[in-house]
Amino acid sequence: MHYAYRYRLHPTEAQRETLDHYRDTCRQLYNHALTEFEHIPNSAGTLNQRVRQVRDQLPDLTDWWDELNDLYSTVAQAAVMRIEDSIKSLSELKQNGYNVGSLNWKAPSEFRSFTYVQSGFEFDNKNGQTVLSLSKLADIPLTVHREIPEDVSIKEVCIKKERTGEWYASFAVEDKEEPAKPENPDRCIGIDVGILKYSHDTDGRAVGSLDLQDERERLKREQRSLSRKQHGSHNWEKQRVRVAECHQQLTRKRHDFLHTLSNYYATEYDMVAVEDLDVKSMMESAGNSQSTSSAAWDTFTTLLEYKCKREGTHFAEVEPAGTTKECASCGVASEKPLWVREHSCPACGFEMDRDANAAINILSRGFEAIGLGQSEATPVETALPLFTSSGAFDVVDGKRVIETGSPTLRERTAKAVSE
Ligand SMILES: [Zn+2]
Repeated sequence: MHYAYRYRLHPTEAQRETLDHYRDTCRQLYNHALTEFEHIPNSAGTLNQRVRQVRDQLPDLTDWWDELNDLYSTVAQAAVMRIEDSIKSLSELKQNGYNVGSLNWKAPSEFRSFTYVQSGFEFDNKNGQTVLSLSKLADIPLTVHREIPEDVSIKEVCIKKERTGEWYASFAVEDKEEPAKPENPDRCIGIDVGILKYSHDTDGRAVGSLDLQDERERLKREQRSLSRKQHGSHNWEKQRVRVAECHQQLTRKRHDFLHTLSNYYATEYDMVAVEDLDVKSMMESAGNSQSTSSAAWDTFTTLLEYKCKREGTHFAEVEPAGTTKECASCGVASEKPLWVREHSCPACGFEMDRDANAAINILSRGFEAIGLGQSEATPVETALPLFTSSGAFDVVDGKRVIETGSPTLRERTAKAVSE
């Protein structure tokens, strides 16, 4: 199950208040349930069982808590079950080495959504306007810019208020059966995802990271302006929304870029290999490690994996250690400082652009990971001819990925990497 369709809601002023009231009731319920949950010893069962135990108290709660009767039943249940997700993501953070405490009560600004599960929602048409009809809540006008196909079954809808004050409805749909993966993939690619700047692939393509300079500067300006306003005042609130809009714009642009790029690779190839970024960013973390770009590439591989699944494309995440040092031709490792852009093998004399060499190693490891490629031609032989024409990369500007979508990647102009 994944959220696939997201629509902007256009609630009236009165509906906005109802939505906010609903959201806040869910928040209070969540906080109450969290306290109850903490009274249940770990020995009482699995995480899911313990949270369900709290959920089953709901009928008793409604006896004295009148406002809970305003909530549609699955909305209340989902608010309680959110504890399970919160705890899971908390322990994931812990596993990744973050220093996190226990779950806290959620403040109004941190609890921005509620969810209808299975029932209580439907599309309707009122006076020529499409509305989302939510049980025990309202018929909220919305813009359906993209129809949900008829054969798709909707599992739940999440109603969320963004920091900008805009409301959205996201629909989660059942995952379709994955298409079969090709037995002998003939279009294979390795991508060396550059933490610092470019991603390079074994088809001689280099994609620049997205230039968000203007957006970042605008965000900074608006933030400075916000800090000069009196906290909580009317002007402050107006400015706060402006800052939130800047954040939204940044996120949108980045997502557009990453979606387009990952979609391109997943649809054009039968097999895609990338490095495991969790490991890679740890390796490269010297001081200013957790950069925005590494987070963005992390999103990229997540999207790529999901899209490959959907397209029936093999996806391999490989061990990143040594991909730059190893020779793609003979496998011998040699030290290579960052400023050395050429790979020149002391053992076999093989020469190639540093990142091209790394990308081929990633592809080779990908072949190994999915159990292919060792039979006839070695991976290097498979990938090499792609480079012999110029030996240099074609550079695709990150901006152009968004502007024209995938075709840009196909009709790229040849331009050598100058650094
Ligand atoms: Zn060599």
